Amino acid sequence: MNECLFCKIANKEIPSTIVYENDYVIAFEDISPEAPVHVLVIPKKHIASLNDINIENSVYIAKIFEAISIISREQGINETGYRIVSNCGKDAMQTVEHVHFHLLGKRSLKWPPG
Ligand code: AMP
Ligand code: ZN
Repeated sequence: MNECLFCKIANKEIPSTIVYENDYVIAFEDISPEAPVHVLVIPKKHIASLNDINIENSVYIAKIFEAISIISREQGINETGYRIVSNCGKDAMQTVEHVHFHLLGKRSLKWPPG
């Protein structure tokens, strides 16, 4: 049985506030938002981390960035700007082992991150 939290969200076994979905990608609001817009964009296929992207599954990553272009427009942040973050592994504090891209916007974001 797949115990992955984000697979369960993708399969609608766990509720989330979905903002965008297609055959490859699902995007939903982060449960603990760090900005007025904080959406997580994930592949519907389980990919544990950025380290696991390869020629077999990289179409999902392309689809994620196509989706980000649509979602940023729908969320009204394509012109003001936004940040995409993907944490990989312990030093980056990845907490969910299913690849995800944070889409953050609608406020001024600091750089560099902590
Ligand atoms: P990361 O720390 O980069 O692995 O990001 C995991 C993100 O998932 C965090 O920002 C959490 O707030 C978010 N998160 C955890 N559980 C849920 C959930 N059930 N629904 C939506 N977002 C979640
Ligand atoms: Zn998963």
